[in-house]
Parts: sequence; C-alpha cells; structure tokens
Amino acid sequence: MVRTVVTGGAGFLGSYLCERLLERGDAVVCMDNFLTGSPENVAHLLERPAFRLVECDLTEFVHVSGQVDQVLHFASAASPIDYLRHPIETLKVGSLGTLHALGLAREKGARFVLASTSEVYGDPLEHPQRETYWGNVNPVGPRSVYDEAKRFSESLTTAYRNSYGTDTAIVRIFNTYGPRMRPHDGRAIPTFIRQALTGEPITVAGDGRQTRSVCYVDDTVEGILTLADSDFAGPVNIGNPTEMSVLELARTIRDLAGSSSPIDFVDRPVDDPGVRRPDTSLAAERLGWRPEVEVTTGLRRTIDWFAERLIGTR
Ligand code: NAD
Repeated sequence: MVRTVVTGGAGFLGSYLCERLLERGDAVVCMDNFLTGSPENVAHLLERPAFRLVECDLTEFVHVSGQVDQVLHFASAASPIDYLRHPIETLKVGSLGTLHALGLAREKGARFVLASTSEVYGDPLEHPQRETYWGNVNPVGPRSVYDEAKRFSESLTTAYRNSYGTDTAIVRIFNTYGPRMRPHDGRAIPTFIRQALTGEPITVAGDGRQTRSVCYVDDTVEGILTLADSDFAGPVNIGNPTEMSVLELARTIRDLAGSSSPIDFVDRPVDDPGVRRPDTSLAAERLGWRPEVEVTTGLRRTIDWFAERLIGTR
C-alpha cells in the first residue's frame, strides 16, 4: 500500500488530496496546525482506518514513523488576507517547513511534491506565463512574504534534488476554486459568491480589467496527483488557461447566483498582478493533463455549495 504524507492536509486543496488518495486505496497521514485550515475539512475522513490526522507545526519538527512513499507539501497560508495576517508564519513555513518536509522525504526515500504557485511569476512581463519565465516579484512588497517564500521553497527543493538526489517535483498552481473555500478568505471567487448570495455589493478591485484564469479544484487535484505519480521534476504549471477579467468574473458569478448585487469598485491591492494565464503545454505534453471543467460549471457547483451553507438553500 502506498503511504502518503499531506502537509496542510486540513486546508482547501490538501483536504481534496487526502480524499482522492484514500479513494484510490492509499494510506494518508495529514499534518496540519490549523492556522488557516480546519479539522472540519477532513472530519468525513476520520473514520477511515487508512487516514491519520496529526496536529503539528511543520516549522518546528516533523517526524512520521514507518514507511512513507510520497510527501505532498501543501502547508502554507495561501490567500492574501491570510498571509498578510500571518507574514512571519508564511515565511517560516515556506522556509523551515519546506526544509523539514524535504528532510522527511529524504529520510524515507519518498517522492516529494512542492505546492508552488503562479505568484512566483509576480506581476508578469511575459504573457501567458511559461515555466521558463523567471518572474517579476517585488522582494520587499507586502506580497513578498508569500511570493518569496515560494521562490525560496522552489530553490530548496531543487537543491535537495541536485545535492541529495531526493526525488522531487514542483507544481506551480494557478488560482483554484471550489467548495470548501472559506467565505471570508479574501480570494476573489469566495468573496464575490458570498456578496452575490447575501445581496451585498460585489467589490471589484481597481477597474476590474486585470485578468485571472481560474481552475476548478477537481482539475487541479487531478493534475497534482498525475505529477506525483510521474517521475517528472517540473516545475510545471497546473491551471486553466481560460482567461477573464476580474469584472467579467464578478458579473458571471452575479448572473449564475441570480443576484442583483451592485458592483462597487474598490482600491487595488499593492503589487496586484495585471494579468495571469498559464501556458499549460508542458503539463499536456509531459503529464497528458488538461483541465476539463468549464468555468460556468465549476462556478455553479461552488455557488450551490456556498448557498447551502450561507443561506441554507439549493
Ligand atoms: P489553505 O490555507 O486552505 O491550506 C493551507 C493549509 O496549511 C492549512 O490547513 C493550514 O492550517 C496549513 N498550515 C499552514 N502553516 C502550517 C504549518 N506551519 N504547519 C502545518 N500546517 C500549516 O490553502 P490552499 O488554498 O489549500 O493552498 C494549499 C497550498 O497550495 C499552499 O501551499 C498554497 O500556496 C498552494 N496554492 C494554492 C492555490 C489555490 O488557488 N488554492 C494556488 C497556488 C498555490
């Protein structure tokens, strides 16, 4: 039986990874300190004998007894509200946490997958973003606590591969959405859905012409697991190349939610990227992976999930 450690397993993406791995018959050790995730996200998995939830802070010390075949390193605050609220924790989990997770993979001879991000491209001067692009990140801007932590994690992962021969992979995940996101986590999609469902104004940053490319969680998880099962080191982009402006995204969500919320334009955050679209040809070529869920289908599913929780309908 394959035994996989998922760090940050009680978070949004991590909880889906734990679920899929168990579905296919793997044993899963989920490690989390619940900084931005919650045991509720994996409560439905607790009764499965192949699942273990361990509360631990990865920046301190990581120990897992017995066999470990894969380490999927997903622990890190990910939404701007979260990492701006926890700047030092974010830098620590990206540096010390990644060091400890890599140490575990090295000790066990396991494959290691780093959850990196499209944010390593910063405010990109190349569009769409290919893996060969080095990025445009302000090292002292407010977002640097996340962006630079991930860039350091990528560097550390590469050094473990080159110096110790650890079997590593880097996935650069683009904006992913779906059920189980927190309505107040500050990311555009949960914010717009919450506002649309409760009739509040939908707050679009700037003039809303900045673009995003959003990927439904099932597609992202499939891409990550395909990479984990391959021998490809990456870095590889996983995301949906369908690009839309933030204003278009807000209007689509408002329509799908059947809402009449007005749209309010608010200040744009510092260093907010102007464009975002993955070039996914490397993932298609090396992993045979392509996103399949249409944006409206994914948004509908997410809106339904939020509606049930926020207003108890649908
Ligand atoms: P999330 O905040 O829901 O999950 C992160 C999890 O990590 C949480 O459960 C949190 O409690 C845990 N964590 C944080 N610090 C920890 C520590 N020191 N020790 C143990 N656990 C710790 O975020 P998410 O959206 O699920 O993102 C998961 C990973 O994927 C992150 O590494 C993020 O950078 C990456 N990512 C996500 C997206 C996205 O669109 N969701 C995009 C790019 C990259």
